[in-house]
Amino acid sequence: MCFNSSIEWTTHTFNPWWGCTKVSDGCRNCYAEALSNRYGHSVWGAGKPRRLMSDAHWQAPLGWDADAKRTGRRARVFCASMADVFEEQAPPGQLARLWDLIRLTPNLDWQLLTKRPHRIAESLPPDWGRPAGDQSRSRIICRSCCRPVSIGRASSWADSPPSVKGD
Ligand code: SF4
Repeated sequence: MCFNSSIEWTTHTFNPWWGCTKVSDGCRNCYAEALSNRYGHSVWGAGKPRRLMSDAHWQAPLGWDADAKRTGRRARVFCASMADVFEEQAPPGQLARLWDLIRLTPNLDWQLLTKRPHRIAESLPPDWGRPAGDQSRSRIICRSCCRPVSIGRASSWADSPPSVKGD
């Protein structure tokens, strides 16, 4: 799913893939699994294939970034509403593709939500946070659905995290 978001704390929603495996009690009422099933995608659980997204879908954030640059107003991207980017079974190559996309969109503030904060450090790319003139890297916010985890620049959003993903 890739669309301008109606969620008040973000501007856009971007999913690098669909699917996940439940990891805690907080996953019991996972709306993303229910929505996936409703759309006929059997992508939940260990060993189930994830739903990959089209190239056109992956292009959309580049347009959002261009708009943000043109207007001078940074935009926020909620990533991901239908997956957990730090899950153990991330589809091969898709997480690296996401890091590349984030590097290419310095006018966007990416909001990565996860229930696997213990996997953040090992999943980040090795150049994460290096002051290399890449603004996006210092503005990404990671948080758990259970507790906020900020990496890089903190923000008022991280101080009052929204309640999502089966909380
Ligand atoms: S998407 Fe979030 S709430 Fe749903 S199963 Fe994955 S980690 Fe749990």
